[in-house]
Amino acid sequence: MKIRTKIALQFTIISAIILAFFAISFYYLAQKNRKEEFYTRLRDQAVERANLLIKVQRINQKKLLKLIGKETLTKLYSEKILMFNDKNKLVYQSYEADTVYYNKQLFELVRKNKYVEAVNGDLDVIGTMFTSDNQQKEFVLLASAEDYLGKIQLKKLQNSLITSFLIGVFVTIGLGWVFAGQSLKPIAKMNEEVSSITAYNLRKPLNEGNGQDEIAKLAMNFNLMFQRLEQSFELQRSFVSNASHELRTPLAAIKSEIQVAIEKPRSADEYQKVLQLLMNDTQRLIQLTNGLLQLAQSEKKEQSVIMQPLRLDELVFQTQEELQNQHPDYQIFIDFDEIPDNENFITIMGSEPLIKTVINNLIDNACKYSSNKRAEVSIGFDDTNCLVRVNDNGIGIPESEIKRIFEPLYRGKNATTFKGYGIGLSVCRRIVDMHQGSIKLKSEIGVGSSFEVLLPHL
Ligand code: ADP
Repeated sequence: MKIRTKIALQFTIISAIILAFFAISFYYLAQKNRKEEFYTRLRDQAVERANLLIKVQRINQKKLLKLIGKETLTKLYSEKILMFNDKNKLVYQSYEADTVYYNKQLFELVRKNKYVEAVNGDLDVIGTMFTSDNQQKEFVLLASAEDYLGKIQLKKLQNSLITSFLIGVFVTIGLGWVFAGQSLKPIAKMNEEVSSITAYNLRKPLNEGNGQDEIAKLAMNFNLMFQRLEQSFELQRSFVSNASHELRTPLAAIKSEIQVAIEKPRSADEYQKVLQLLMNDTQRLIQLTNGLLQLAQSEKKEQSVIMQPLRLDELVFQTQEELQNQHPDYQIFIDFDEIPDNENFITIMGSEPLIKTVINNLIDNACKYSSNKRAEVSIGFDDTNCLVRVNDNGIGIPESEIKRIFEPLYRGKNATTFKGYGIGLSVCRRIVDMHQGSIKLKSEIGVGSSFEVLLPHL
């Protein structure tokens, strides 16, 4: 069901319930009033008749009274009044009949309760005790009549209420439909706008309206999300273009080396040289694809990575040893003076190969980008984190590039003469994120760089 229909329906149901509640209450009160009023009239009528009877003091002139009763303007529809004396003898009847029927039980009740109201078919009945003015005699009065006019009025009221209720419900359906349409208009508009969005027009595509209401806030959030998406699309695009560029360079070199080699017959020595060049370029391609593979693996879901408690200082020392074996010219110094009493302060939950990759990449870069091939590593901790800082006195990173060097395949402008593919730091960042840590960088061109990795300890 469409939201518009749903809202209109809910609106109608709520209004119908309220209308029905008021209509029923109104009808109930009107009916109650009619009854009360009619019983009062009936009682007054009976008492008035009894008073007259007493005043005339001539019980045998009953006929005259009957006549008075008949001609009385206030006479009620189907009115019948009976009057009994203290010996339960019928002393007056307002109509002519040989046998008078009345409800004996009601009679008893009147004697007991002094006043009784009852319903007998279409007739409303009251019974009341009546005492003469001089307090000498007590009578029982029974009066019945039909509230013909009152019932007709009540019926009319009922019809008017049902008609108004139905009209009210139809009007509410219409109004609900219109209001729901009005309130959902911005959403319909947003829907239209969203359907026209592609990966190339993600910049603030949704109208943010008044910037205040919920829909405007939703549009603002969507726009923020689109901005983030755009950034990641942009990153992806630059990654693809960088990756193709990086792959194309060795491939183009391989092609031109082969072209030159097959131009004319060559000596075995020359073929040997060409093959060596081809070997180097192929090696470069393998390294690059390995780097890309590493990057893809670091993007894997965190759940598939085995996490275990690791002493960060041990990982740094192991990495130092491995790097030193691969590059004997590297000078790696480790500063770990402040050894904690509690080893938890230096223990993290992490994946050993991944954390080692981070430490390895940072130390390797520090040595690679410094003329003295020297890296100074310090290990530390605070209340929540362990810290590894790698300092160098190398070429430094231009300020404008500090943010970008963590992008996959991005390389600093001053680093092109050094071997590399621009993958290491993006892998580091991804791994650190995966371990709920952070990586910070301070660098000054020509002075050196300082990379700091913070990882939560146990
Ligand atoms: P690669 O070193 O293979 O180019 P990285 O992702 O490790 O790839 O580094 C990306 C870029 O960051 C490098 O090309 C370089 O410009 C810059 N960089 C990284 N570490 C250092 C450093 N210690 N000193 C100066 N520049 C660095």
